[in-house]
Amino acid sequence: MGNLFKKEEAVLLLNKLSDVYDIYAPMVFKGEGCFSDTDSIRYGKITSFDDIVWDKKSDYSFKEVLLPISDTILYFTEKEMKVPDPSEKKRIIFLRSCDLHALKRLDEIYLTNGAEDFYYKRARENTKLILMGCKKSFDSCFCVSMGTNQADNYDAYIKMDKESVYLEPKDEELKTLLEGTESEEASFEIDYVTDNIEKVTIPETLPEGIQDFPLWEEYAGRCVGCGRCNFVCPTCTCFTMQDVFYQDNQKAGERRRVWSSCQVDGFTDMAGNISFRKDQGARMRFKVLHKVYDYKKRFGYHMCVGCGRCEDVCPEYISYLACIHKLGEIKDGGNADE
Ligand code: SF4
Ligand code: SF4
Repeated sequence: MGNLFKKEEAVLLLNKLSDVYDIYAPMVFKGEGCFSDTDSIRYGKITSFDDIVWDKKSDYSFKEVLLPISDTILYFTEKEMKVPDPSEKKRIIFLRSCDLHALKRLDEIYLTNGAEDFYYKRARENTKLILMGCKKSFDSCFCVSMGTNQADNYDAYIKMDKESVYLEPKDEELKTLLEGTESEEASFEIDYVTDNIEKVTIPETLPEGIQDFPLWEEYAGRCVGCGRCNFVCPTCTCFTMQDVFYQDNQKAGERRRVWSSCQVDGFTDMAGNISFRKDQGARMRFKVLHKVYDYKKRFGYHMCVGCGRCEDVCPEYISYLACIHKLGEIKDGGNADE
């Protein structure tokens, strides 16, 4: 059972929530798309329910709310360091089922795979997750194949149309906040998709020597190593470190962690002028097998959640889905069926 708000009552609801939380959801960023004269849909702080984009897939995922593209992790002078203060407000993130599954992957890497990450943990602990239903599948989604089309690890469910906002809280804190609000009791089923146009079958096992198969060679010529596919992926977690020294005092500055990508030059550089995976074919192989093979060997479930964002964003029209299909068709010796 949940609360149904008329649009004008929903304004008061958002004001009430905004007193306690910064509220993030997919929004339009005009003219900021990857391709010329296009908009970008990515996560930002909303001030109205009308800011939320419902009818399109977000180009970037929710992950930048918890893991900013560039995140200052400490300030330093010659003698001292200081960790930045946490944000003053808690957070709410509106997100879809596939992204809730992606959050499980982020938690796995940042909270349980070795020592807990201090910055991720303090952001995550103060975050409520509100599930946005999917009335239909978007192009290139394959969440049903990946088993991520439904989720239950949310704090509330939201459904909206032009006249009303329905909010069904599971979390006690949100339930308390909703007490006394102008709303009607109501109950709606959660919208989730049961079929996608795109479907994949990921092979359980791959042949010995897959890393050297000719399959990867086409990517050496086509991929330009821009890293977009990693940046839009809700499950990519790699970062690099940058120390920034202030111009007016070169002895003070800040250390930032900044998103990185296994597809870009320099990612595998090591002391001694060593670099692993120099060509783009090897980098594509590393990325794809990590998403649908190597991660599962370690954690028992696939890293990829089937959001299709990497498919949508590649400037070279490299299809991750086509690559997965080829893996399913591969024969010993290395050629996929055409
Ligand atoms: S690999 Fe592609 S389809 Fe899979 S989760 Fe990442 S962006 Fe989505
Ligand atoms: S696969 Fe496409 S998006 Fe990814 S690094 Fe290569 S060119 Fe860029």
